[in-house]
Amino acid sequence: MTTTTSNLNQNNSQPADQLASLPITHLKGVGAKFAQVLEKLGLKTVQDVLFHLPFRYVDKTRITPIFNLVVNHTAVIQGTVASNNVQFGKRRSLHVTVEDDSGRVNLRFFHFTAAQKNNLSVGTPIRCYGEPRLGATGLEMYHPEITTLHSMDDTPEDSALTPVYHLTEGLSQPRLIKLTEQAVNYLKKTPPTEHLPPQVAQKFGVSSLGDALAFLHFPPPDANIEQMLEGMHPYQQRLAFEELLAHFLARQEARMLAQKDQSPVIHIHKKQRAAFLARLPFTPTGAQTRVLHSINVDLAQQKPMLRMVQGDVGSGKTLVAAMAALDVVAAGYQVAMVAPTEILSEQHFHAFCRWFEPLGFKALWLVGKLTPAQKRKALEKIISHEVDIVIGTHALFEDKVQFAKLALCIIDEQHRFGVNQRLTLREKSADGLTPHQLVMTATPIPRTLAMTAYAELDYSVIDELPPGRTPINTVLISQNRRPQIIERIRAACQEGKQVYWVCTLVEDSETLDAANAEETAETLQACLPELHVGLIHGRLKAAEKQSVMNTFKQGESHLLVATTVIEVGVDVPNASLMIIENPERLGLSQLHQLRGRVGRGTVASHCVMLYGDKLSRQAKERLNVMRETNDGFEIAQKDLELRGPGELLGTRQTGDMLYRVADLNRDGYLLDDIHHIGQQLLEQNTPAVEAILNRWFGAKRLYMNV
Ligand code: ADP
Ligand code: MG
Repeated sequence: MTTTTSNLNQNNSQPADQLASLPITHLKGVGAKFAQVLEKLGLKTVQDVLFHLPFRYVDKTRITPIFNLVVNHTAVIQGTVASNNVQFGKRRSLHVTVEDDSGRVNLRFFHFTAAQKNNLSVGTPIRCYGEPRLGATGLEMYHPEITTLHSMDDTPEDSALTPVYHLTEGLSQPRLIKLTEQAVNYLKKTPPTEHLPPQVAQKFGVSSLGDALAFLHFPPPDANIEQMLEGMHPYQQRLAFEELLAHFLARQEARMLAQKDQSPVIHIHKKQRAAFLARLPFTPTGAQTRVLHSINVDLAQQKPMLRMVQGDVGSGKTLVAAMAALDVVAAGYQVAMVAPTEILSEQHFHAFCRWFEPLGFKALWLVGKLTPAQKRKALEKIISHEVDIVIGTHALFEDKVQFAKLALCIIDEQHRFGVNQRLTLREKSADGLTPHQLVMTATPIPRTLAMTAYAELDYSVIDELPPGRTPINTVLISQNRRPQIIERIRAACQEGKQVYWVCTLVEDSETLDAANAEETAETLQACLPELHVGLIHGRLKAAEKQSVMNTFKQGESHLLVATTVIEVGVDVPNASLMIIENPERLGLSQLHQLRGRVGRGTVASHCVMLYGDKLSRQAKERLNVMRETNDGFEIAQKDLELRGPGELLGTRQTGDMLYRVADLNRDGYLLDDIHHIGQQLLEQNTPAVEAILNRWFGAKRLYMNV
């Protein structure tokens, strides 16, 4: 893998960022061992500490009367202990009641020592900082920070906002603040260099970068608290600008590095393409043809293609991938295709066999469940070029998988994979060439993300659905109306339609989800004895899943009860009704994916979201988005606003996306300027680029390749 090491060594020619060469061990209290802890956060130099900015602030400067507490709004209260007792329920807990002139609130501690309990004896004046939640006894604070006071007349010692930093195991907030204090002292003697063009500093009215850094780490008492809490102070905005610029530059640089690699030149194979199209029962849509054309232009170059194809669920991405693959195999090379689930990879495998075998090409399915002997045989066929196309799951990333002549990697539903997984595929060809990369996603990438997290990828959109699709009608219905829904299923199945029932009991627990799905399937079967009810979940053996899916696909079962394992890719056009239980537990993009399993045929499709009884206002607002639109782009944009980029990109990538001062929603308006200035810096090839990357990514840079 090409790394950026060579660039890191060019520090000499850069504008002086002196603190970049001052090791963190220069700070008092940092020995070799602690330095290792800090390095986990990418902190190796004094400069790194300065740019490790607080990602938010909390306000401990004001005391809130207990009566004015608001659920989920962190606050400081001050009062005397009115009661103190230990309760023995499922879990032992300490309950303390605090009161002031305006009211009372309960504190709860699940971990506590005898000393802590004794310190909170009745009548003691205390100050607490915590987040009130709605508990069994009304407003409660769980594990608040407590200071015992001499008297109720004490005023808060905090006169300014308290910064909150990203931490790691072995590094506490107070300890980091001590280091930051020292680092900020260096700023006066050694101010950091301004790398941005003067118009940026002017735009924000920031004359000294050093002042801005010191201000953000230690906001003075007279700072505008509201503005700071919103992240809109000019100093914050100045640094958010630079942080987003750094992300943009990092992705662009990764792209330039990747494009230095050599890839095989692949042209369209006219004869095979004609044969392929002649056998296809439909013609590609205009959008499919247009996107395929961009791919063919990329494949005909000597440098690797880096292209993301986005197309709403059902837009026909698989066909586009297959046609690109055809040119590659016809040119005598191999193709690898990765999908996030076994079900999906198997479905692709069957489609590819159907399309490619008549043309004389061989496909192979590679998944984790193969026996060692089967696997060995498969690996042999891959390296000896006995097979042309390998389709599989994560199993394809394993080191042992090596190709003879791999020219194209296709990653389906890319948000389910991490960047680094995708990169392992780059080194799998024995011919020494770098394969082209095609990544596909149904989740539209809002512009802000496209320009920061994915700036290294070219982007095409399949913006047209195959003809004859009818939009899905989505309704929100309460659990209480389950009996009516069951009647609706009966009626639909009598008309020959098929139905999905999706259970989402617990997020991230396939075990509990599976148990719940089993129960639901039993209940539904009892209510609907005339129907054949299928059941599929992640705990089934692969062969069982396969047979359940086949039965449903062939129309032999009417109703398929499933967990979210069917979320991606599953394609059964005759299914036209979907019930989603507890939709409030899922993200919008995930719901959109699920819903996309229906609406694939020509009859009108319906999606019923069966919500639980206690739906919060925010959850209702979220679900309404699903009712109002079938447009994946709008849904993704809303998801980004409501849940942040981590959720949208999938959990695996959240680590890459930890912004410090920047916030993609709030600061999206800066991106045009960032793009413009970023391009300018890259074209001028100035040392500022390296300096900016160093100060924002420091030691992490080695891991930031495309
Ligand atoms: P997705 O983009 O969600 O991955 P698929 O590739 O699974 O969509 O395609 C969805 C369905 O549409 C499949 O049944 C596929 O065969 C069909 N399809 C794809 N392209 C066309 C087309 N041009 N005309 C008609 N049907 C198509
Ligand atoms: Mg797909």
